[in-house]
Amino acid sequence: MPEEILNEINPNEVRPKSKRSLWLWLAAIFFVGASVCLGWYLYIQANRPGHDTPLDALAAPVFNPLPLGSVMPKGWLLEQLKLQSSGLTGHLDEFWPDVKDSGWIGGKAEGWERAPYWLDGMVPMAYLTDDAKLKAKAKRWVDYILKHQTADGWLGPEQGNPAYGLIGKAPPNEIRDPWPQFIILKVLSQYEEVTGDPRIIPAMEKSMRSIDLQLDQRPLFNWNFFRWGDLVVSIYWLYDRTHEPWLLELAAKAANQGYNWTAHFWDLPLKHKSEKWNWVGHGVNNAMGLKVPALLYRLTGNARYKKLAWRAIEQLDRYHGEPNGLMSADECLAGLNPSQGTELCVIVEMMFSLENSLAVTGDVRFADRLEKVAYNALPAACTPDYWRHQYVEQSNQVASAYVEQPIYATVSGIANIFGLEPQYGCCTANMHQGWPKLTSHLWMESPEGGLAAVVYAPCVVDTQVQGNAVHIEEVTDYPFNESLTFNVTTARPATFPLYFRVPEWTQGATLKLPDGTIESLKPGEFHQVSRQWNGTETVLLQLPMAFKLRKGYQDSVSVERGPLVFSLGLKTKWINFMPFHFQPKGERKFDWAAIPQSHWNYALALNANDLNQSLTVTQQPLKGNPFDPGNEPIHVTVEGRQLDNWQGAQGAAAPPPQSPVESTEALEKLVLSPYGSTRLRITAFPVLK
Ligand SMILES: [Zn+2]
Repeated sequence: MPEEILNEINPNEVRPKSKRSLWLWLAAIFFVGASVCLGWYLYIQANRPGHDTPLDALAAPVFNPLPLGSVMPKGWLLEQLKLQSSGLTGHLDEFWPDVKDSGWIGGKAEGWERAPYWLDGMVPMAYLTDDAKLKAKAKRWVDYILKHQTADGWLGPEQGNPAYGLIGKAPPNEIRDPWPQFIILKVLSQYEEVTGDPRIIPAMEKSMRSIDLQLDQRPLFNWNFFRWGDLVVSIYWLYDRTHEPWLLELAAKAANQGYNWTAHFWDLPLKHKSEKWNWVGHGVNNAMGLKVPALLYRLTGNARYKKLAWRAIEQLDRYHGEPNGLMSADECLAGLNPSQGTELCVIVEMMFSLENSLAVTGDVRFADRLEKVAYNALPAACTPDYWRHQYVEQSNQVASAYVEQPIYATVSGIANIFGLEPQYGCCTANMHQGWPKLTSHLWMESPEGGLAAVVYAPCVVDTQVQGNAVHIEEVTDYPFNESLTFNVTTARPATFPLYFRVPEWTQGATLKLPDGTIESLKPGEFHQVSRQWNGTETVLLQLPMAFKLRKGYQDSVSVERGPLVFSLGLKTKWINFMPFHFQPKGERKFDWAAIPQSHWNYALALNANDLNQSLTVTQQPLKGNPFDPGNEPIHVTVEGRQLDNWQGAQGAAAPPPQSPVESTEALEKLVLSPYGSTRLRITAFPVLK
């Protein structure tokens, strides 16, 4: 990592008490004095966390995630997992050298982050789809990795091969790099939850001891310097089981050495499109960093970190927010243009961070955002069979083809092709965790020994609540439908609370209890139902979805309804762009390019005072994969006119002209589809006067 960048980074704000130096105390006294003199400054800083000492024990999260396997996918969600299992996830280890011949399994290919990334999605997927073949693969890898743990605890290759992803002047990986350990620890904790394998906890403990020792000799550097939050996730997982104090010291050490995400998300240092590649603006680093405020809350008990957790999202939205719920990051943060695009790794890592922030804070907004990302951005980045994906996905994406002079700031003109490893292979390895981790975070343990439905999708829960076996079937086509049915079964009469999330976007939501009572629900809260459950009883949840416009770049708008974003899907011609670099067994596979076959430069005619006059929903029963273009179960119709002065630029749609706009073209009926079922699309539209 270049020294000048290191020098720009502030020291972290969380420090063990015993390590506080005189200088820090003097600085703190100066800070307080200055604040008294400058009341306005104090006011601005009022919510800013910092200068905390770790607690003696971790602060409890509001919700506790259930062990992997307690929540099993059903309906359309199970379909996505099965498609992924029959796609890249289930086969990468058979033909893609960076997994097949990975250093992690004794091969000579990449021995750094890629196999751990793949395992982080493949292992939970094996169990959530109950796939014997994938479970056998998971066991083979875990067995190998545990068997080859070094005497001092290091997991995996001690030296990566000339590492992919180490950019430019970064040092060769001649010393142990803890970053891949951070990932494999997450794999092992999931494996333990679902198998109870007694080897895992001692192996994780040894691994963390060896990381602890290394941090004393060689502090965090390059990727691991920014991604220390992913180590802390596993430290907490282990601490919650062993309660050993040294683990909290290790968490504080990592926070202390690593990049200062507190200062970063308090006032985002990058407010414009990145001119060149940089660590601080790296999209995946930021997506991973999003969970750090929630993690620091558990370590320090300072409630301001809970506020910072949402402020982080607001900061990214303000300067880099996209209609699909992501921040632009065509590898690094890239401004508000809806044509700019976001790396697929950002999508899945942002989801994991939102899951962590949701659990710790219990704030509905994290769940709302998680659904927006999962039900729009995630499926859109892949072909429906999950054999191909994009490196960069754009909210306004009018072509997927090679461009000599692309719009992207930090990646090449091949980045939005649907292929095996367009641009880089990191997303090829890392994309698998999205749906499995969403599934395991649909329900969580709630305060007072109950259960909470925090994110909605068809599933079944089997768990123990206050010593009672509880089985809940969540039957729904949500997010394509407003109705959810919960069949709650207990083996014997049992009294415990169930919590239901009421999204911020709903109005007039109701819950019908087994005795026929209908309760009105307040948006933006968790609604508690405390009663005795007996046998099988049914609760009906209605979440009315009204239209909403999101205002974006140059006053363009995108159409939202509940968790879904709607886009004009373009007629598309798919072209074999080039053969996969590495071929799986069977039919020869190609990377695909996509060329638009219909007009896209429309401005919408909208009555902003009454959207129901301009927008109409049509629905049909959900069958098969809702994210397969042409098979979407819901559409929105709207009228619009073409805009002659809105054309393509650099292989993408030019930014939408400043709204409101005028056009003399004919008024046309446009049919919008869920964003997730489009591959070429316009999502951010100019608005007609
Ligand atoms: Zn990636």
